[in-house]
Amino acid sequence: MRSSTIRIALVGLGKIARDQHCPALAALADFELLAGASPHSRIEGLPWYRDLETLLREVPIVTAVSLCTTPQVRFDIARYALQQGRDVLLEKPPGMTVNEVTGLVRIAEQKSAVLFASWHSRHACAVQSARAWLAGRTLREIRINWKEDVRVWHPGQSWIWQAGGLGVFDPGINALSILTYLLPGNLVLRDADLSYPENCETPIAARVLLADSTDTPVHMELDFLHPGAPRWDIEVETGSGRLLLSRGGKLMTIDDRPVETPPSEEYVSLYAHFADLVHHRRNDVDLAPLQLVADAFLCGRRNTVAPFIE
Ligand code: NAP
Repeated sequence: MRSSTIRIALVGLGKIARDQHCPALAALADFELLAGASPHSRIEGLPWYRDLETLLREVPIVTAVSLCTTPQVRFDIARYALQQGRDVLLEKPPGMTVNEVTGLVRIAEQKSAVLFASWHSRHACAVQSARAWLAGRTLREIRINWKEDVRVWHPGQSWIWQAGGLGVFDPGINALSILTYLLPGNLVLRDADLSYPENCETPIAARVLLADSTDTPVHMELDFLHPGAPRWDIEVETGSGRLLLSRGGKLMTIDDRPVETPPSEEYVSLYAHFADLVHHRRNDVDLAPLQLVADAFLCGRRNTVAPFIE
């Protein structure tokens, strides 16, 4: 083990911890994954503890903690980890509310701990190239279609339908994380229509209108009942060409012509950035995507639709 190796633990051993965090950590020499904490789930070969408090007591050499829990429980666990002086990576969304996360930033500063509010979609391989292509161009209109079948992509995840679980904004916030990275300046919410199944606390579909600082309209459609292949597309009309980012930021075309982008693994890139933050003792906390979702919940019209039965 190198002296600069980051000894890390995972908290919340569900789908994303298993599918993405473990393989990414295994691929990077910067990290040594020492243990995991989760109330029920375990990952084979990884020492398991019921909660973070027990984990840190039993494995005190852990210096960093990556939180892959449901958003509703993230704040208390993140606050505890920071108060114990550990560096913290937050899965998206970084908290249930904006204020939770600003509170965490203050604690991180007091404790000289590193806080990374990660947005995995910003690490998709075409996002950097898209940002570079858009820089300096005149924007005309932006259309976002983020549509998937919740029964396929989130089977059994009842937390998504409970307050704080974001509903269709759980994937939709990924689109906003890319958009807020692509566009310089402030985006504001102009209008939102949110459709709530009569038996759920969070929306199953949404139509949102945003505008950037030059009043470019951004039309966003989110749908959790989209049959067949998912659509995770951002289309940008400019005065000099049309950009399409598809497959959640993985593919890019300009005027329908494919653009080659450097290959990269989202979560490997995300953890490489975390390693860099830890080594340089810097925070990276951008609340813009969560703030826009909060604004949609604050100002959106609420429509009641048919109950959701999984
Ligand atoms: P999931 O499969 O439902 O897993 C969530 C995990 O959180 C569960 O395994 C649960 O543990 C754990 N948990 C709940 N309360 C906890 C507590 N008090 N302490 C520790 N762990 C606790 O959900 P997921 O899909 O992995 O999503 C988790 C987060 O990652 C969400 O914020 C989601 O937006 C984000 N994310 C998901 C995906 C995806 O494709 N699924 C992609 C990117 C990001 P037990 O099982 O032990 O009860």
